[in-house]
Amino acid sequence: MKPLVFSVLLFQSTQAEEARKPEGLWFTDATSQFVFFAVLEGLYRDGISTETVELIVPRKDKNSEPTMENFIYTCPLCHPAYEAFRIYLCRKPFYGQKAGSVDTFGAGLPGDMIRNLNSTEGKKKRGVIRQLIAKWVQTRLGSMNLPEKERQDWQARIKKMSDRGTEAMKRFKTGSNGDYYKNHYQDWDECAICEGSLEGCKLPVGDYRSR
Ligand SMILES: [Zn+2]
Repeated sequence: MKPLVFSVLLFQSTQAEEARKPEGLWFTDATSQFVFFAVLEGLYRDGISTETVELIVPRKDKNSEPTMENFIYTCPLCHPAYEAFRIYLCRKPFYGQKAGSVDTFGAGLPGDMIRNLNSTEGKKKRGVIRQLIAKWVQTRLGSMNLPEKERQDWQARIKKMSDRGTEAMKRFKTGSNGDYYKNHYQDWDECAICEGSLEGCKLPVGDYRSR
């Protein structure tokens, strides 16, 4: 390979990597932390199996990093959600139980949701992710028992961040970050995490113990 061609390719791949990085220090932001905890809590409470999580954040093998292919790179709501899925994959079995026997709480997802997560149609898969996020955000927000005004403030903060996620998605779709992202997001009309988070804020406060 000619040195010039190699440098151009290297420049392009560095540019592509840059386009994936989360914006700023997401982990210092209270709204991002809220989404992180909502997802982690939901994963444990619903007892999502590792196999099911790997349909949402696929990885090549047990040692490789899960991918963000069902999320929007740089989105301030997608990133903390992704981190929660990623950390959940590293969970350990509860102490004192037979190794590997118990490592979460709930019974897992119903069959129809798992079928849709297995679908080759991205929209079906992302539809389930949106549903899960909406429920988990609704549950966490409900458990905070906030006065109406504060609840609306959370909704406004999440809306602001989801707008930034949507902007990022639109930018990727235009191809300004390269063809890989343009193709990847071409059939995306919305971000599952952003829309799910927004939906979860709007749903009436539910009693999560009854679910
Ligand atoms: Zn998003």
